[in-house]
Amino acid sequence: MGDERRRAAVVAAQSEAVAAQSEASEASEASVLVVGALGRMGECVRAALEGHSELRLGAALERPGHPQIGHELEGGVCVTDDVKAAFASVVVAIDFSVPSSTLANLRTAADAGVAYVTGTTGFDAAGRAEVAELATRVPVVHAANFSLSVNVFAWLAREAAAKLGPDFDAELFELHHAAKRDAPSGTALWLAAAIAEGREQTLGDQLVLERAGDIGPRPKGTIAIQTLRGGDSPGEHTVMFIGQGERIELSHKSHTRDHFAKGAVKAATWLVGRKPGLYAIETVLGLD
Ligand code: NAD
Repeated sequence: MGDERRRAAVVAAQSEAVAAQSEASEASEASVLVVGALGRMGECVRAALEGHSELRLGAALERPGHPQIGHELEGGVCVTDDVKAAFASVVVAIDFSVPSSTLANLRTAADAGVAYVTGTTGFDAAGRAEVAELATRVPVVHAANFSLSVNVFAWLAREAAAKLGPDFDAELFELHHAAKRDAPSGTALWLAAAIAEGREQTLGDQLVLERAGDIGPRPKGTIAIQTLRGGDSPGEHTVMFIGQGERIELSHKSHTRDHFAKGAVKAATWLVGRKPGLYAIETVLGLD
């Protein structure tokens, strides 16, 4: 065999080995459906999946009528509005969309045996109850906030509330971008719940969302949330414990959405192969 042919044979063998390796690694990576794939969070989740060692984008679902249905994304995956096809070949879904879409797609996931991670906020009590009901059939993580540091923030708020008690008035404010649909944010409600838990109160009895007019003195023990909207902020939350002559302020400010996406991808990796159930993000992050 001449040098030329030998070199060609070596190159061919090397390419075959690389192709076999990449096929093997594709086969060992779990296939993920991103619901709301072209939304602000969907884009960040897809970016977090790129180059991931255990997960890869397998399907991208968008709302019917979205102008980019059929558009090809990374890995040759095309945006679809065909729910059945989207769930056909995936083992886990990551969904940041709207409550009606999340409930409809979670029902399909339960029928198809697909694990489900969702960060969608703005559910009413009936919606939350249905998520819990569907989680008896497939493993689900539903979190108002996937950021590690916001989870630590909630823990700090719970601990502070337990130590300070209701003599320190608890006030929260949140700021989000102008396009956010639900108010107050899911994270603000979750922080308020953490404060109530720390004080051994029931949040529903104490929550104040509106103040206007002659409101009279502040009822002792209440937990109030004020909502601010504007610009492009991915999210800011401040909790104040206001006493006589002093106060504590705890704040978290997001500069990007990447940490939410990373947390959701981590949850998806953790969830694959688990038994059905509604798992807490604190468990996924090893905080409980
Ligand atoms: P967005 O509006 O940018 O994206 C939502 C996407 O869902 C859009 O692309 C929309 O077309 C798509 N969608 C709507 N109906 C659909 C359907 N039936 N099927 C498939 N896709 C559908 O919103 P966003 O800023 O990405 O936020 C989405 C949700 O995630 C909100 O509820 C927000 O509060 C929440 N969020 C949660 C976290 C967290 O850490 N848990 C972080 C950020 C945002």
